[in-house]
Amino acid sequence: MPTRSNIAILRPGFCLLAIFAFLLLPIPSRSQEGGLRLKTVVIDAGHGGHDPGAVSKLSKMSEKEINLDLALLLGARIQKEYPDVKVIYTRKTDKFVELAERGNIANRNHADLFISIHVNSAKSTAASGTETFVMGTDKSESNMAVCKRENSVILLEEDYSTTYEGFEPDNPESYIIFNLMQNAHFEQSIAFASLVQQQFISQGPIKKSRGVRQAPLMVLWRTTMPSVLVEVGFLSNSSDRTILNQKESRQKIADDLFNAFAAFKTTYDSDGTFSFDPALLESPEEESNATVLPAAVSGPHYEIQILASSKKLKNGSPELKGVQEYRVRFINGLYKYSVGNFSTKEEAASRLPAIKKKFPGAFVVQID
Ligand SMILES: [Zn+2]
Repeated sequence: MPTRSNIAILRPGFCLLAIFAFLLLPIPSRSQEGGLRLKTVVIDAGHGGHDPGAVSKLSKMSEKEINLDLALLLGARIQKEYPDVKVIYTRKTDKFVELAERGNIANRNHADLFISIHVNSAKSTAASGTETFVMGTDKSESNMAVCKRENSVILLEEDYSTTYEGFEPDNPESYIIFNLMQNAHFEQSIAFASLVQQQFISQGPIKKSRGVRQAPLMVLWRTTMPSVLVEVGFLSNSSDRTILNQKESRQKIADDLFNAFAAFKTTYDSDGTFSFDPALLESPEEESNATVLPAAVSGPHYEIQILASSKKLKNGSPELKGVQEYRVRFINGLYKYSVGNFSTKEEAASRLPAIKKKFPGAFVVQID
């Protein structure tokens, strides 16, 4: 397992706290003669053209349509309130734009901020809420699920293996290239991401926050300015989907993004010094879905074994029924798959019925 960076995630419950405690640690700003001005913003509506992004039979709109609507609403609001700010869109219509080109557009225009807008999707219909990503090397399972989906767009591009130097979205080893990146704007990206989540939490319309996260997202890889990728909700969740399909809710989401932009610009233009308390950046909150559980384990404890197999199963194989976080132990010729980390047998037993719905043969095991 790769080591997880210590600055990873704002746990949803911590978001508000984190943002109000935003003033504890000074972060040096980019130095520039004559002070800083946020003059150019690039708004990136994810997907487009032959790449619809997330789709749902139950949704009137696909991800690419929601992304574009939000991007145009946000851009219009910025142009109205800040006529001096140059707003550049990576696409203003339903067309396909390569991932690398999206970042290139921002770089060529010397943008001061890059905002990529997306809609999430998960196998579990229970997964819901908003989250904002910054570029980073955290490869926890839940972050990688988003990465694989968002990065796999390159497979729809004509010459992706040349453009991305052999990068394969599904191959964990491919992500090593990201370890070489230098991100001079990490803190400012985190600051903007936190402002976005703060707005979502306080204003809605989707108030459930999955926090600020970092992940190796291709679209953020080579941008040379503070950059975030916002996932505004889940198309796979009925409540989020209903909200995302309403025009007035989308206006509210665009307003949240605008308010985050305005707050970011105020600080950026004054002295550009953003602050946050790294102690409040915590491990990811896992899905409430009973089958998705923390992966780190130490000391004697109980787990729930969900299945055993003579061959090693690939992540995402049908036998695992969508479970993305589990442990595998090779014992007596069998690969044994288990979830959970409970300190008592009773605690484990209380979670067993929920897991048995998916894995009727599941049982509690003691691990020493
Ligand atoms: Zn997307």
